[in-house]
Amino acid sequence: MAKDYYDILGVSRESSDDEIKKAYRKAAHEHHPDRGGEEAKFKEVSEAYQVLSDKQKRSQYDQFGATFDQAQAGGASGYGGADGFADGQNPFGQQGFNVNMEDIDLGDIFGSFFGGRRRAASPTGPITGDDISVAVDISFKDSVFGTERELELYKRVKCSHCKGNGAEPKTKITTCATCSGSGQVRQSRQTMLGAFTQVITCPTCKGEGKKAEKPCGQCGGDGRTKDNRKIKVKIPAGIANGQTIEVSGQGEAGLRGGSAGNLYVTVQVGEHEVFKRDGYDLKCEIPISFTQAALGDKLNLQVFDDRVKVELPAGTQTGKTFRIHNNGVPHLQGSSKGDLLVEVKVITPGKLSGREKELLKSLVEEKGESAEVRKDKKGFWDKLFT
Ligand SMILES: [Zn+2]
Ligand SMILES: [Zn+2]
Repeated sequence: MAKDYYDILGVSRESSDDEIKKAYRKAAHEHHPDRGGEEAKFKEVSEAYQVLSDKQKRSQYDQFGATFDQAQAGGASGYGGADGFADGQNPFGQQGFNVNMEDIDLGDIFGSFFGGRRRAASPTGPITGDDISVAVDISFKDSVFGTERELELYKRVKCSHCKGNGAEPKTKITTCATCSGSGQVRQSRQTMLGAFTQVITCPTCKGEGKKAEKPCGQCGGDGRTKDNRKIKVKIPAGIANGQTIEVSGQGEAGLRGGSAGNLYVTVQVGEHEVFKRDGYDLKCEIPISFTQAALGDKLNLQVFDDRVKVELPAGTQTGKTFRIHNNGVPHLQGSSKGDLLVEVKVITPGKLSGREKELLKSLVEEKGESAEVRKDKKGFWDKLFT
């Protein structure tokens, strides 16, 4: 008998994700081996939760579970499994088909039902095309403002000769006789535990439900060929180095009606000679003269294509950082921006003209050593000799 995951967790088929989560927590708590619970029961609960907490697995299980129900109902009304049938008699009607279960690896069947979206373990049925991953280099400025790139990809595409159906044009495609076009067949086998029935992909048409009389001469019936394709990819403003853009459906074409894979574009952002990025903030370091620092100044900074005003107050110290709000990198979501952080470095002049020297000397004579410097010096000497 098949396990009912809903029964195991004690929830109904209509339960919400939240209810399932709650039920799982409770059951896991109850059956945890560390708390004296039964390990087998705990495993069962975990398995049930693994399936029911995953949207895709749950919906597959819902369909799959229904098949089990039918098999059980069939058994009860006297079918008794595959061994009980007379030749040519088919308990499952038109779509029925009995395959020797020994030929099929159960893992494969579960793979195709419960496996991921891509590269299902089953070699039959629709298969999603492979994903393609590429890296593109962009400039720092382009990462701040966004850009667009045209990529040329050599990839599997739908065959233009047969339009993807795998048949030579003007030849017939017939409905598969094995599965009557449904692409699925049931198989049964008698086990010690009773009749076991499983729906599998039709081995004749590999799940397509139809067969080409004459396979396409261009793609050999695969429905796909390799070709160059150009695709424009929008790179959003604010993207950071190493981030990846997903372009859905632009990977390789799928097989037997499977959807195309995705294209993943990983962005590598170059360095900028002035600006660095810290989250969404832009940082830069600018040199100012000691007269600008002492007297104050109004700076008009070139920040890419814009001008940004920074007001230096008189007495600005080296290393002081000014934050200019909303002048940084745009957030990927929403319309706000980070800040611009400007750190000033006071440059002491190395070479002075005779006139400059005179002026500075008269400044020293005028002011002497400033009170602030004297105070700093005193602290320094005190620390050194105590
Ligand atoms: Zn073709
Ligand atoms: Zn078939």
